[in-house]
Amino acid sequence: LLIVGTILLLGYVYFNFFSERLNGRTDVVSVTPWLAPIVWEGTFDPVLVDNIYKPMNLTVATTVFAIGKYVRFLQDFLETAEKHFMVGFHVRYYVFTDRPHDVPSVNLSQGRHLSVIQVPGSNRWQEISARRMEIIQTTIERQIRREADYIFCLDVDSKFHARWGSESLGRLVAVIHPGYYEQTRDRFPYERRPASTAYIPMDEGDYYYGGAMIGGFVEDVYTLTKVCRTRFEEDAGNSIEAAWQEESHLNRYLLDNKPSKVLSPEYLWQDFKAKTKEVKVIRFSGVIKNYADVRPN
Ligand code: UDP
Ligand code: MN
Repeated sequence: LLIVGTILLLGYVYFNFFSERLNGRTDVVSVTPWLAPIVWEGTFDPVLVDNIYKPMNLTVATTVFAIGKYVRFLQDFLETAEKHFMVGFHVRYYVFTDRPHDVPSVNLSQGRHLSVIQVPGSNRWQEISARRMEIIQTTIERQIRREADYIFCLDVDSKFHARWGSESLGRLVAVIHPGYYEQTRDRFPYERRPASTAYIPMDEGDYYYGGAMIGGFVEDVYTLTKVCRTRFEEDAGNSIEAAWQEESHLNRYLLDNKPSKVLSPEYLWQDFKAKTKEVKVIRFSGVIKNYADVRPN
């Protein structure tokens, strides 16, 4: 009995090990209905993916806003990005702030560069959130277009904890919001008022994407920011502000313009949320913050 038991156990271990190797993940969906990959740990080989992208000598732009008290998040954001974000690639950080003197000096690895761009402050966080699209759009026009191939636009109140690498590169890249990946679409907090240009009817929608990350080719993200900004302004002209501001507009845009790659919630977790069994690695997460303490109003 002991021998049979041992053989069965070894067989089980062997099967699990090799089926994971050969088939990737069976406990999560790793492709969208339009055949875009959904990136989960275990669905890609990091060495193989790096070997494809490294010879292309790419530059990855990273935009991050640190307006008002949010400058306090920059140090951890940048230090952890240096450890985990696109390691071995050319990275150009673009830090938008109204407090350029409070930007910490962080040691950057070779091939990585940081520019500080001064922008006005604001008394309404909704406005800061709204203006991100506009500022990214105009900075792409003015500068980023000439300086980078890919771009990731990220929330500053976050930290990297593990590899975020070339597996995330694609034409148009979005991340599934960690709060809604287990929900059905009627539960998604899309904008539900037809008066808004971000409106999504109850029977439409693929995923609820997080507004804390937008990525892709510079030109594709340019179009996205331009369209979202225009719609946001159109709504403002009609005295309507979408439920989750730019996130609502992002979700509407991505419903019509399907992302070519979708990142799992490993790429956008929230520190207050306990890790679930599907999430083998938390790569990037929003830190716990006291809103009363950091927001202007
Ligand atoms: N932000 C900022 N200053 C503010 C409010 C927001 O710089 O006073 C920027 C910052 O980059 C932040 C992003 O806008 O990460 C989104 O806002 P927030 O993180 O507060 O939204 P949440 O993630 O809590 O929905
Ligand atoms: Mn945030």
